[in-house]
Amino acid sequence: MENKSTLLEVKDLCMYFSVAKGIFSKKSYVKAVDRVSFKINKGETLGLVGESGCGKTTTGRTILKLYEPTSGQIIFDGEDITKKSQKSMLPLRKRMQMIFQDPYASLNPRMTVGDIIGEAIDIHGIMKGNERTERIRYLLNKVGLNGDHINRYAHEFSGGQRQRIGIARALAVEPDFIVCDEPISALDVSIQAQIINMLEELQDEFGLTYLFIAHDLSMVKHISDQIGVMYLGRLVEKGPSDDVYLNPKHPYTQALLSSVPIPDPDESKLTKRIVLEGDIPSPIDPPPGCRFKGRCRFAKPVCSEIDPELKEVEPGHFVACHLFK
Ligand code: SF4
Repeated sequence: MENKSTLLEVKDLCMYFSVAKGIFSKKSYVKAVDRVSFKINKGETLGLVGESGCGKTTTGRTILKLYEPTSGQIIFDGEDITKKSQKSMLPLRKRMQMIFQDPYASLNPRMTVGDIIGEAIDIHGIMKGNERTERIRYLLNKVGLNGDHINRYAHEFSGGQRQRIGIARALAVEPDFIVCDEPISALDVSIQAQIINMLEELQDEFGLTYLFIAHDLSMVKHISDQIGVMYLGRLVEKGPSDDVYLNPKHPYTQALLSSVPIPDPDESKLTKRIVLEGDIPSPIDPPPGCRFKGRCRFAKPVCSEIDPELKEVEPGHFVACHLFK
């Protein structure tokens, strides 16, 4: 069996944001990411899913050190980068890039496409002049755009084309690792599959490693080797993509999967949708016990008292739930 090496490891990562309250009250914290651990092998993809506000984007941003983690460890290619200063992160920024969710807001409307893609090349002093221009043309072609459009502005492109520009920008500095932060959720369904296929082709060609953030489990399954499911800052299930998709164990993952539309009407009739009841609790100082208990159809007394740990219930398949011993 091929022995794959780990590119990124996150251990007990916490990212808390303090919330201002009255001057005499105790400080409160939004526990956006709370003791999250996972590994991603070189050349593979971890899909991170969950509803809005579950902490998946904050996880991606904290790994890139756009936020300073509250505690835990981020190990990139064998090096602990948790406490690295912004200045000492600069060489690593070349290796760790991000593709943003909104292709409209993430591209500067006053810059040409050439300058948007070339900005990181300039910051890292990689190349200049004709060599730089040729590199940008090459990247535009690589993402399915016309290299002659180098002097156009972002508003002259469609949403799908703008996301391709965002991908070319991330590729400009030849990264090893890319956080893809919901790169398809703002796009038409017809365009989504094209972007996913292109990301997969680029991964194969350049040996890229992805953290792919999404709320659509069906899209994540297609591109991911491993899937992690987040709920209110915690990882509640993780495992090989097929195992999590075909045999979800956590009641929250089961509910998420039951809401994925099934194209076959006959099969769709047989699949019962699990409707989640109850409100999502506040992420500010969450109460003890399982954070999903207010919406879980299997909740029992222990769920209100003890926060379940993520445990391996089948080889490589981890679940945080008291239903599993
Ligand atoms: Fe439901 Fe309890 Fe499992 Fe939480 S620990 S998901 S409340 S059964």
